[in-house]
Amino acid sequence: LAKKDGDDWILNGTKLFVTNNIVADVHVALGLDENKEMKAFFFEGNAPGFEHSVAENKFGMKGSGGGTATYKNVRVPSDMVCSAGIGDTSIYYYAYIFAATIALGAAEGCLEKAIEWAKNRTANFKPLSSMQAVAQKLAKLKSMVVVANSVVYDAAALYANPETINEACLKSQICKAYVTELAEEVTRECIKLFGGMGYHSSEYYHYMSDVMATIIMDLPTEYHYGGIAKLMGLDH
Ligand SMILES: Cc1cc2nc3c(=O)[nH]c(=O)nc-3n(C[C@H](O)[C@H](O)[C@H](O)COP(=O)(O)OP(=O)(O)OC[C@H]3O[C@@H](n4cnc5c(N)ncnc54)[C@H](O)[C@@H]3O)c2cc1C
Repeated sequence: LAKKDGDDWILNGTKLFVTNNIVADVHVALGLDENKEMKAFFFEGNAPGFEHSVAENKFGMKGSGGGTATYKNVRVPSDMVCSAGIGDTSIYYYAYIFAATIALGAAEGCLEKAIEWAKNRTANFKPLSSMQAVAQKLAKLKSMVVVANSVVYDAAALYANPETINEACLKSQICKAYVTELAEEVTRECIKLFGGMGYHSSEYYHYMSDVMATIIMDLPTEYHYGGIAKLMGLDH
C-alpha cells in the first residue's frame, strides 16, 4: 500500500519475480493508494530503502534475470507518480501482446527445428517426416503458428494506432491467453518429436520452458479469459 506524506508517496512491501531488477537503472512499481486506486511509481534503483535480490533457479527464461524487490519507506515525489488502472487499461495491452510475441517466436523457432529434424532423423530406415502421422502433426502445428501470427500482428497494429488502441483490449487479451497456450502445445509436440534429445538438450527444451513463463507472467491465462468473458458481456 502506498501512503501520501506531504508532496511524496511512501512505499512499503515486497514484490517477487521482478524481471531484470538487477540491471535496471529506473524502476516502476504498481501499487494501491489508500482509496485502492492503482498508481505507477517511478524511481531510481539507488533510492534509499529499495533493495533487490536475484532468484537463482527458474524453469525457463534463463537469458533474463529476475528477483525480489523490497521497499522499506521508499520515498517517491508526486511528480514521478501517475494513475495506472488495473489490468484492463491500455498501458497493459503492450505487455500482453509482448508476452504473446515471445511465445510465438518460441513456437516458430521450435517448429522450424522440428521440421528439419523430422526430415533428417530416421526410424526403420525412413525419415520421420515420411510417416503420415508425423507429417500431419507438423502440418497442424504449422497451421496453429500461422493463425497465432495473424492474431499477434493484428493486435499489435491496433495497439500501434492511437485511433484503434481501445480495440486492442480484446485482441491483446486473446493474444495473451490463447497464443501463449497454443505455443505451449506447439513446443510440447515438437519436444516429443525430438524424442530423448528433446528432453535432454536445452537447445530444444528451452523453447517450452520459455513459453511457460509467457503463460504465467503479466497475469495468467485464466485471468485473461475472465477479461474476455467480461468484454463479451458475460457476468461471472
Ligand atoms: C517469467 C516471469 C517474469 C515475471 N516478471 C515480472 C516482472 O517483471 N514484474 C512483476 O511485477 N512481476 C513479474 N512476474 C510475476 C507475475 O506477474 C506473476 O507471477 C503472475 O501475475 C501470477 O501471479 P502469482 O504468481 O501471484 O500467481 P497467483 O495469482 O497466485 O495465481 C496462481 C494460479 O491461480 C490461478 N488464478 C489466478 N488468478 C485467477 C483468476 N482470476 N481466475 C482463475 N484462476 C486464477 C491461475 O492458474 C494462476 O496461474 C513474472 C513472472 C514470471 C513467471
